[in-house]
Amino acid sequence: MSARPMNIAAAFDPERVRRDFPILDQLVNGHPLVYLDNAATTQKPECVIEAISNYYRRDNANVHRGVHTLSDRATHAFEQARQTVADFLGSPRPEQLIWTSGTTAAINLVAYSWGRSTLQPGDRVLVSWLEHHSNIVPWQLVAEATGAEVLPIPVTDSGEIDLGALDSLLDARVKMVAVNHISNALGTVNPVQEIARRAKAAGALVLVDGAQSVAHWPIDVTALGCDFFVMSAHKLFGPTGIGVLWGRASLLDAMPPFLGGGEMIERVGFPTTTYNTVPFKFEAGTPNIAGAIGMAAAIDYLATIDREAAAEHEAALLARCLDLAGEVAGLRRVGTPAHAAGIFSFLLEGTHPSDVGMLLDQQGIAVRTGHHCAQPLMDRLGIPGTVRASFSIYNTQEDVTRLFEGIRKAKSLFS
Ligand code: PMP
Repeated sequence: MSARPMNIAAAFDPERVRRDFPILDQLVNGHPLVYLDNAATTQKPECVIEAISNYYRRDNANVHRGVHTLSDRATHAFEQARQTVADFLGSPRPEQLIWTSGTTAAINLVAYSWGRSTLQPGDRVLVSWLEHHSNIVPWQLVAEATGAEVLPIPVTDSGEIDLGALDSLLDARVKMVAVNHISNALGTVNPVQEIARRAKAAGALVLVDGAQSVAHWPIDVTALGCDFFVMSAHKLFGPTGIGVLWGRASLLDAMPPFLGGGEMIERVGFPTTTYNTVPFKFEAGTPNIAGAIGMAAAIDYLATIDREAAAEHEAALLARCLDLAGEVAGLRRVGTPAHAAGIFSFLLEGTHPSDVGMLLDQQGIAVRTGHHCAQPLMDRLGIPGTVRASFSIYNTQEDVTRLFEGIRKAKSLFS
């Protein structure tokens, strides 16, 4: 990211952004809500809530099949949403975007469709120790079915992917390298462009799990150099139950369907059925139309935000957290990656993460505790879990102050 003059960062106004998110204006357990669980899901601006509600109030109909006006409107809005997401991710063509119910479903789609049709006994899929379970288990399932193996790429004690270890794992057996862009447990920003370069030089495909990165900075899938990119709308100020798989056109064309049903067919008959073209080949059944419209509204909303300034604001929140953490005896940040975004994961000596989480909740502060669906990483670090505070564009320095007041109070109750 290019350096920007300080005055531009200072011009970013999270208080103004907060006003767009009605849910933030409430008391929780008698205290003004401090929402620091953005890595789990982000809150929704009024315009997203309105777009979904307006769709159901005015345009609701099934897509692609109807001849009537409402169906036309719904189809137009749905396909326009695909174009919006395509532009947002830098996809050369909207057909390269397949609607899924989210990141998990998108990874499963690739694992089942590409994996089951391609992987052979002895082939390898590499994932890192930093992965969310959704970027591990689908590969293990496909490995069981095909005789391929899933191997973890080692991470360092600071919580970064060990690129030297990746190099020593890369050989002709490796057919897929699947890594996240930002670790949801530690906030590590992985050098996915470099990982993609090395993996592709060794002849492997690359899947980037962008669940955590899309909300923090603009993404260009072409520049990343990956073959597949997956994300969920709900971590990007959009609704739950919708996300996308972006894929390289030649791969998507060659991949067999994953789910069968309406919409994904060209002609159904006995004994044979032929399939629709991409993206419809992978979109069996009635899609989440309102979800797609809500996701596009979230992207339109983001277009009104200076994203570079927003990223600097979030970085400033994390930097202040790290400063304040140094002042609390017994507080240990988990993972010390050189490049982290949006996430502060920690342990408080003599306490269990879930107790700290509950005490923070009593003060109106929402954080996540536990293994964060990253049990292999917790095993690797030798801990049961962490307390995780995760930041978004509407968090303020006051939120960080409240978090540390809460941590100090929790600590005093335990000592
Ligand atoms: N990958 C990462 C890095 C995540 O943070 C998450 C959500 N915590 C997922 C995958 C799964 O996303 P979803 O539950 O929206 O499918």
